[in-house]
Amino acid sequence: MLSNNNWKNLEEIIEKNNKFIITTHINPDGDGIGSELGIFHILKKLGKKSLIINDSPTPEFYKFLDPKNELIKQYEKKYREKLLEADVFFLIDISNFERLGRISKIVKNSSAVKVVIDHHHSNSGWGDVNIIDESASASGEIVYDLANRLGIKIDNALANYLYVAIFTDTGSFRFSNTNKKAHFICGELIEKGINPREIYGNVYESYSWERMILFAKVLSTLKKTAEGKVSSIHITKEMMKSSNAKREDIEGFIEYITAIKDVEIAVLFLELPKNKVKVSLRSRSKYDINQVAEMFGGGGHKNASGITMQNYTLQEAEKLVLSRLEKLFV
Ligand code: 5GP
Ligand code: MN
Repeated sequence: MLSNNNWKNLEEIIEKNNKFIITTHINPDGDGIGSELGIFHILKKLGKKSLIINDSPTPEFYKFLDPKNELIKQYEKKYREKLLEADVFFLIDISNFERLGRISKIVKNSSAVKVVIDHHHSNSGWGDVNIIDESASASGEIVYDLANRLGIKIDNALANYLYVAIFTDTGSFRFSNTNKKAHFICGELIEKGINPREIYGNVYESYSWERMILFAKVLSTLKKTAEGKVSSIHITKEMMKSSNAKREDIEGFIEYITAIKDVEIAVLFLELPKNKVKVSLRSRSKYDINQVAEMFGGGGHKNASGITMQNYTLQEAEKLVLSRLEKLFV
């Protein structure tokens, strides 16, 4: 991993430029959304206008952060010009170009300054300015540092954004990336007036019925491999359609099967259109599944990684990945 912390360059870049675009990865999570809103807020306080444009829609359970639906735009052709005109791209919580989705080509070919803010182990430092801190629990932690460096007061709005980023990416302070700094920052954010109970309710107690209908189907696919050290589930296109579920409804399914006694690694296979399969991997502790994800062209963190497999049926992807994982236990 290249850790290339160009804080000073960043301060200068913000000062000298005016057209900022902020974006995060496809199917954004709480860290992506919270961190990009955090950057937007910081730039606003510095008197700089910016635009948040994402490939994917904002999941329902994060919409409370943008209640008037005015801050985060989903990419459409009409934003093409804005992207082409940008002076600076803030690329948040993304380890590579592909994860930008439909805007990846424009960003790749643009001469604008690319600022990458991330905490993924697999981030190679693909920006012009890279602020990559693998020890950070969430990208939101780095945004918190940025606010402090720039002397931005953390008001209630910014505190909400950053709390969501950190508390979701640490799995509500359960995952192995939970550290002293994450707790310290969130303590500070509580002091600024955020309400953890209310935020938890907004994010995790707002399941759609479609999600639960899908979950019932998905649980029936539960399988054990490597004598119960590996648990897996799968989701077919048909299951998505018949339960009328959205992609965001899947978030968190894998955590249930990671919690089975004696399971070390959990896997979720999601069938996508055009013969693609999205694989999510979770490891309870000692196994570095980022290494496994990288073997198949994916990446992420030691305990949470993902792969997008091209030209595989669901069955083929399952067979290949599970047999690779079995080898870890012989
Ligand atoms: P999830 O399984 O929740 O989608 O993702 C878990 C972690 O793996 C995240 O940190 C995410 O950035 C990473 N990840 C997920 N899908 C992919 C992928 O297709 N490619 C790469 N390189 N990383 C992924
Ligand atoms: Mn993150």
